[in-house]
Amino acid sequence: MSENHELKSCSFCKKPQHLVTKLVVGQDLNICDECVAACNDILNLETQQEAGITESAVSPLPEDVKDLPKPKEINDYLDDYIIGQAYAKRVISVAVYNHYKRLNAEIDVDATELQKSNVLLLGSTGTGKTLFAQTLAKLLNVPFAIADATTLTESGYVGEDVESTLFRLLQVAGNDVEKAQKGIVYIDEIDKISRKSENPSITRDVSGEGVQQALLKMLEGTKVNIPKKGGRKNPQSDFITVDTTNILFICGGAFQGIEPIIQSRLNKNKMGFVSNETDSKVEDDNIFEFVQQEDLLKFGIIPELIGRLPIVAPLNNLDEHALVRILKEPKNAITKQYKRLLKMDDVALSFDDAALKQIAKIAHLKTVGARALRSIMEDIMLDYMYEAPTDNKKTLTIGLKDIDTYVKAKLPKDLQLRLKEDNKASKSSAKSQKKAA
Ligand code: ADP
Repeated sequence: MSENHELKSCSFCKKPQHLVTKLVVGQDLNICDECVAACNDILNLETQQEAGITESAVSPLPEDVKDLPKPKEINDYLDDYIIGQAYAKRVISVAVYNHYKRLNAEIDVDATELQKSNVLLLGSTGTGKTLFAQTLAKLLNVPFAIADATTLTESGYVGEDVESTLFRLLQVAGNDVEKAQKGIVYIDEIDKISRKSENPSITRDVSGEGVQQALLKMLEGTKVNIPKKGGRKNPQSDFITVDTTNILFICGGAFQGIEPIIQSRLNKNKMGFVSNETDSKVEDDNIFEFVQQEDLLKFGIIPELIGRLPIVAPLNNLDEHALVRILKEPKNAITKQYKRLLKMDDVALSFDDAALKQIAKIAHLKTVGARALRSIMEDIMLDYMYEAPTDNKKTLTIGLKDIDTYVKAKLPKDLQLRLKEDNKASKSSAKSQKKAA
């Protein structure tokens, strides 16, 4: 009897052809669809393990409320990584503690229902919004994923990108749905999906509203089916259902353009009343501190979404002093990272304070918050990082001459000019202070 007439079966699981959906027939071996799927799972797991994502990557939160980090402890931990932003730290420490208390309290059916409090971080670019979310996830040891609101589907229902965010969360949780469901998702650029008019009856230019509705579902808690393989929706693929009810959502946005809205409300409130100290002190750098939900509504965030983000934590713009501290103080400060890297080549690296001040000044001029610090530093350090491992010097100090070189080579002419003027002004104010003393 020829081979073709034999009953074919899977060479791996030995199931005969009529018991499997598909059998791929090779020259010497056959494989059924189930074994192909099992092979895929094995390969996926190996890829995750290579990327450092394993089942044990995230340990569970403590069962007992007593063992949860307290707001003060959360605040102290944030202090190690984030400079300034004292008010936001306080708000977030309390919010996060309450969130995880609420999770632990769920079993108590008689108790008052504790509602979830997602957080809205409001602050200019590079003030530490993402850093807040990342640092919290590290502290709490919960899975963490970042999404960008501008890439969410506009169709008014939860779509592809929400799934991929939750898929990432699931991967970080080592494919443990329970863990993923207690994770943190940071949604960036939430302000970019604002509807352009406060009036909901206006039908034109409501581009952001559908996205806000989609987001709303996810924030208030919905069950999302995620294809096991994470890719596009595929009817052949199995689904894992992730319930977003207990996921803590931290939304962040720069809300550019909200300042005049806040300012005009503050001015309106002032009219007819005797102006007090605080009102008159409202300056651009701390205007976000005065934000209220009505300002967000005017900005174009739909009321339901505002309702789902009851905790608003404003972040201040970072001044030069804060930027210098960011260069030096956090546990993973950039200067510390370079020192550590060069130490591996037996080079002791140091930075002159005057040089760090100039770096902070340049970053400040670039108006992208602390975001500019790393790229400036990388430009300054590149040649040293290239040469240090081979040129046998045991010490290296970054000083003003290095800043000069950077400024001439890399800084646009208009910023060079402003830096010059700025330095002149600082010099003359230091002189007059000396005289006065
Ligand atoms: P955004 O507010 O735009 O989300 P990020 O959190 O991404 O800003 O910050 C950009 C970079 O600046 C990161 O490298 C972060 O570590 C650093 N950074 C921003 N703000 C702070 C801060 N307050 N303290 C320490 N580092 C900060």
